[in-house]
Amino acid sequence: MQTAIRFDPLRLPPETTTLREEVRAFLAEELARGTFDPAIGLRNPSYDRDFSKRVGARGWIGMTWPRQYGGQERSYLDRYVVTEEMRAASAPTWSHFVADRQSGPVILKYGTEQMKDEILPAICRGELCFAIGMSEPNSGSDLFAASCRAEREGEFYRLNGTKIWTSNAHRAEYMITLLRTSPPTKENRRHGLTQFLVDLRLPGITVRPIDQMPGSTDFNEVHFEDAMIPADHMLGEIDGAWKQATAELAYERSGPERFLETFSVLVGLVRQLGRDADIRAAEGVGRLVAQLHTLRRMSVSVAGMLEAGHEPVLEASIVKDLGTVWEQALPAKARDLAAFAHDKAGRDPSNQADFEDLIEFATLVAPKLTVQGGTTEVLRGIIARGLGLR
Ligand SMILES: Cc1cc2nc3c(=O)[nH]c(=O)nc-3n(C[C@H](O)[C@H](O)[C@H](O)COP(=O)(O)OP(=O)(O)OC[C@H]3O[C@@H](n4cnc5c(N)ncnc54)[C@H](O)[C@@H]3O)c2cc1C
Repeated sequence: MQTAIRFDPLRLPPETTTLREEVRAFLAEELARGTFDPAIGLRNPSYDRDFSKRVGARGWIGMTWPRQYGGQERSYLDRYVVTEEMRAASAPTWSHFVADRQSGPVILKYGTEQMKDEILPAICRGELCFAIGMSEPNSGSDLFAASCRAEREGEFYRLNGTKIWTSNAHRAEYMITLLRTSPPTKENRRHGLTQFLVDLRLPGITVRPIDQMPGSTDFNEVHFEDAMIPADHMLGEIDGAWKQATAELAYERSGPERFLETFSVLVGLVRQLGRDADIRAAEGVGRLVAQLHTLRRMSVSVAGMLEAGHEPVLEASIVKDLGTVWEQALPAKARDLAAFAHDKAGRDPSNQADFEDLIEFATLVAPKLTVQGGTTEVLRGIIARGLGLR
């Protein structure tokens, strides 16, 4: 079925300027206190629970959620500004970011009242970390082949199986987990999956780290062996989670984090070239900035659609794919353009060392960008379907 691709030419409203200034002032204060270092923000583990608590105290986690659950009832565009500033500064947000972006909204939509009362305010205070339990060893792109199972036993579900590539599971208290509760039907192979809120501290759950190429151990294998979770930790419709998991992807794929993960390389390049960059280098930087600006306009547009209550899965896929392409090309382009600055007198050699460090790290990070949050091929498949091409 063909869907019209829609990117409304939305701009962030002037009211968001005050918020942006507040976030920048907060980050400047944090930097002055040395709580994180943006120069090595990429390499640093970007997880800091205390930092998250301070962000929570400002009211910047769960800021779109109802006040009743600790939120601020602000708009997605306000949330966009906070995310953008945090990412651009390479701030250590990963303790709260997944809960803020997608786990909290899922609980808000499908959780029980008790869950909302207990968990959402704690997320808003920056006290809880969440993981996403979708991928499995034999079910990544094809989420609907998931076989990790939950079997009902009285007031509990018994969990068995393995999730993989689970970011932050070794630090997280909870994981929203996609589990098989029934076999697929002949008519609908997506049938039979249910989402659950799983407390990762329960017995029967083992989290094993997996090393990543840049040297970090941010993701894991999560193994369930007869883990028992309360039956009322089910989220939404039994056997019908495919609709929920698909909608969640619009939140996951379109934010500024999808093209600002290695943004500090661009900042490093501009510093490296200095104010008197030659014409070719200046033109190259101009192109990179213009492309980034376009990506940002598209991403803001998706935030506007989320604000209006739509589920722009197709547009979010386009933002994620283009963001990946841009970020993957960035280290090589930056290295190429920086070559023009090489013979310049008066260059700060420490700046050069930092820059090379950034390039090296961004090069090692680049391959995973294609895979996390949906692979390039799969996203292009979604886009092609949306255009009526398949
Ligand atoms: C850094 C990082 C963090 C991650 N964090 C999480 C997380 O927190 N939680 C979580 O659940 N998962 C997470 N993932 C997993 C990620 O979502 C999956 O790796 C991804 O969906 C791909 O699944 P797969 O690895 O099984 O590859 P596969 O699906 O087996 O794909 C292998 C290759 O085949 C191609 N392919 C597959 N299907 C098609 C198709 N239909 N058409 C064309 N080509 C196709 C893919 O593009 C890919 O190139 C993370 C991954 C990374 C890299």
